[in-house]
Amino acid sequence: MKLIIASNNTHKLIEIKAILGDHFGEILSMREAGIDHETVEDGETFLQNALKKAREIAEISGCCALADDSGLCVDALGGAPGIYSARFAGVHGDDEANNDLLLEKLSGAADRRAHYTCAMALVYPDGRELTAEGYLYGEIGTERKGSNGFGYDPLFILPERGCTTAELSPEEKNAISHRANALHELVRKLEAD
Ligand code: IMP
Repeated sequence: MKLIIASNNTHKLIEIKAILGDHFGEILSMREAGIDHETVEDGETFLQNALKKAREIAEISGCCALADDSGLCVDALGGAPGIYSARFAGVHGDDEANNDLLLEKLSGAADRRAHYTCAMALVYPDGRELTAEGYLYGEIGTERKGSNGFGYDPLFILPERGCTTAELSPEEKNAISHRANALHELVRKLEAD
């Protein structure tokens, strides 16, 4: 069966193909499938946004569709920035401003616990749906470290490794990421289905 990933992000596609490759005959990005569509992400949770994206692509393509939605949840901020992670400081995708705002909001905070969350939704053309969530737990540092990754990675410390996720190689991060954890959970559900 053909699977369309509701994303054109090359890194996500590689990660998804590596983990879901055995379960689908062909895995294509939206671009590869010739689909040009932007979902309005107006859900109140990661899962609602992922489901909305996957449902729309399954409907448009008539194929299976997989979508994800992810972000950073900070305990001391009541789970913020959460679904607003990409535009925490106002401009979508401005990682520098988002990290500056996060440092400002946590200035002097003793509790710096945080986690990344990833919600995955797999929707079949017949309407069946499978969902999964994955997490990566850590702490927010007081200064940026490392130049790999993206988003909040320079501030996201993995205490057990003594480094940020921006100091991991892409392979090291993909092995433990919230996206990988969500995908593995999805595979468990697919195999039990
Ligand atoms: P997306 O849903 O994967 O596009 O992620 C939305 C936003 O969450 C990104 O723009 C980042 O700000 C943040 N985010 C999600 N995953 C990561 C990650 O692995 N590292 C750093 N930031 C992330």
